[in-house]
Amino acid sequence: MTDPRFPDSSSAAITGEEAHVAHNYHPLPVVVAEGDGSWVTDVEGKRYLDLLSAYSALNFGHRHPTLVAAVTEQLGRITLTSRAFHNDRLGAFAEALAELAGKDMVLPMNTGAEAVETGIKVARAWAYRVKGVAEGRAKIIVASGNFHGRTTTIVGFSDDPQARDGFGPFAPGFEIVPYGDAAALAAAIDDDTAAVLLEPIQGEAGVVIPPEGYLRAVRDACTAANVLFIADEIQSGLGRVGTTFACEREGVVPDLYLLGKALGGGILPVSAVVGDREVLGVIHPGEHGSTFGGNPLAAAVGLAVVDLLATGDLQRRALALGDHLRSRLETLVGAGVTAIRVAGLWAGVDIDPARGTGREVAEKLLAQGVLVKDTHGQTIRMAPPLVIRATEIDWAVAQLRLALTD
Ligand SMILES: *Cc1c(COP(=O)(O)O)cnc(C)c1O
Repeated sequence: MTDPRFPDSSSAAITGEEAHVAHNYHPLPVVVAEGDGSWVTDVEGKRYLDLLSAYSALNFGHRHPTLVAAVTEQLGRITLTSRAFHNDRLGAFAEALAELAGKDMVLPMNTGAEAVETGIKVARAWAYRVKGVAEGRAKIIVASGNFHGRTTTIVGFSDDPQARDGFGPFAPGFEIVPYGDAAALAAAIDDDTAAVLLEPIQGEAGVVIPPEGYLRAVRDACTAANVLFIADEIQSGLGRVGTTFACEREGVVPDLYLLGKALGGGILPVSAVVGDREVLGVIHPGEHGSTFGGNPLAAAVGLAVVDLLATGDLQRRALALGDHLRSRLETLVGAGVTAIRVAGLWAGVDIDPARGTGREVAEKLLAQGVLVKDTHGQTIRMAPPLVIRATEIDWAVAQLRLALTD
């Protein structure tokens, strides 16, 4: 069956996917074939400005020349060794990433969810072996509205019914407190608390920015009670908000950073837990691992990513362009947009229900050559590549204005 709305080659690709790929996503009806910088091209040759950047995995844009060169060079040497042996790339990558984060060590994994799972294991081991929590009692405090990935443990502490329902029974040991409420969080900490696990800005929830002072208060509560602060910076980190990490917005340093998405440069899944020796050092050989984690190809691209961020230029660019994006989006508030939340080059845009759902606006923008993704019904999330130009932002916001008025 072909879809009459689309040209034949698009239709064939879409129906092929729908027939043979499990329906765990509801993609917008575009079949992307090529990408370059901030732009992608579909199978019919139509170009689109990519304002999603694969949820921040493409912070450096599509096929950044430095990253492609690093991967290509490494492809000619070796791609995978397993951690049964040393490889000549992992050490340099880990050293550079630890330095970027101001920490001692890195535990390399692949996907974001694996970094979160690793953070949970490290926190529990630390609680039993260092803090002295009684075996089996360690508690981790998380926030309402969280998104930390899709494993059974992780969806078990989500409060989103779509993420959870039908997938239990879930792992115990988690307590949910309201996001942004530092007093509620401090009150939930007890002697068995191993860690607090938070997104410094909640991406999937719609770019939800906590009240000023929240992260500092969380840091203080954790320090006072000897509890680890784990910052899930998988989407917020690595330049997105105009600083290397979103925690920097409040001058806060967590005990563990969870990184992923952009760490792989949009080329490979690369994730990591980054922390000091007193914490990450609790893991001993044989207790945790990953066949692909720390492979030389991933390390080569990860090192090139860290090098791109080490100068701070991209972070400064994200900050300046983020101000520009904010000033343009502000002109839409009251004109089809009910609220905006902007942090660096990252924006949640709430669409006035009178003008349609987030999905409907995303479909209109698609027809106009702009890729965005809706979240939670009325919100559109924008996360353009950090290499986007100010004029491209202007054009994209003009398209949004059009999509809201016709
Ligand atoms: C995307 C995301 C994850 C999960 O990453 P995957 O690579 O999809 O497993 C975890 N935490 C946050 C904050 C994310 O945005």
